[in-house]
Amino acid sequence: MLKSLHKRHSELANSKRQLEILSNGIFKSGDLPTFKDKISETNQFPLKAKKLEILQINVGYMCNQVCEHCHVDAGPDRKEIMTRDTMQHILEIINQTGAHTLDLTGGAPEMNPNFRWFVEEASKVGIKDFIVRSNLTIITSNKKHHDLPEFFKKHNIHIVSSMPHWTKGKTDKQRGNGVFDASITALKMLNAIGYGMPDSNLRLDLVYNPTGAFLPGNQSSLEKDFKKALNADFNIQFNNLFAITNLPISRFLDYLIASDNYEDYMYALVEAYNPAAVAKVMCTNTLSVSWDGYLYDCDFNQMLSLPINSKAKHISEYNEDLLIGRDIVISQHCYGCTAGAGSSCQGSVA
Ligand code: SF4
Ligand code: SF4
Repeated sequence: MLKSLHKRHSELANSKRQLEILSNGIFKSGDLPTFKDKISETNQFPLKAKKLEILQINVGYMCNQVCEHCHVDAGPDRKEIMTRDTMQHILEIINQTGAHTLDLTGGAPEMNPNFRWFVEEASKVGIKDFIVRSNLTIITSNKKHHDLPEFFKKHNIHIVSSMPHWTKGKTDKQRGNGVFDASITALKMLNAIGYGMPDSNLRLDLVYNPTGAFLPGNQSSLEKDFKKALNADFNIQFNNLFAITNLPISRFLDYLIASDNYEDYMYALVEAYNPAAVAKVMCTNTLSVSWDGYLYDCDFNQMLSLPINSKAKHISEYNEDLLIGRDIVISQHCYGCTAGAGSSCQGSVA
């Protein structure tokens, strides 16, 4: 099994080192424009936060998988886990916020010992779209998780799960040996109780991200290909496919550097820059909360330890008026959100 950057004591486990790489070299020499300069060309700097619509909570970096591309550097060795006290603070905020979507992520969020309690409490607030980003294999990993599909159904959870390909070889290469088979088993369990089925309100979306140093293809074509293959091979159904671009941070940055693809990938991102995607990047309507309650513009900035540009820095200081209109903190990784059709946790944006 691959090890996390932290476990390997890699220099890239340090977010400052990642930011140095993203600021130096081809960007310092002027071979490529910085993201700030690029969005300034169309008068889109500074990027401003608009009305909050999505509250994304990272409940911890522990995961049963160690995927090659993971921007969290998650794995079984990561011990950062949100406490019940921090969850309690968040529940108070969910009650006040105008956000229509609550999005729980990790790591594997289900590995947080307070996960079920938090879902039960948060679902009482009546948020319109309650997402859990489940990696699927957690469902089959241990007997104690086998009833997760029923638990999700009981609380009308919208499940969003990564599935980089409809073939075993490509999926296992990125996500680890055995992940494809376990994911298929979990998808069948979810389908069996109505998730992703026609005429059912239980939503099951899949996330595609490229298995190498290239940008995703067209989202709707990919969705058609996935639906056809998963139905033909396994009789599996799902609602939508989100195509996501791998951002050049954490383990994907490590992969790019180790495979000598870093510069080519950055050139590809800059060449595919789409100014129309800038206005719709997810940090403009999303707030990310870390396992220890700090606020970030997005999960990527959280992993780069780029704190939010606001007087309200922690969930205990939450103030929607202070957060609206703030300048978003950017760096060259942001090119990943504006390439081609754009990319967000909900897939293409433009
Ligand atoms: S399942 Fe998700 S959080 Fe876990 S290692 Fe893979 S990409 Fe990272
Ligand atoms: S990486 Fe984060 S801050 Fe940068 S554009 Fe994407 S969502 Fe916004």
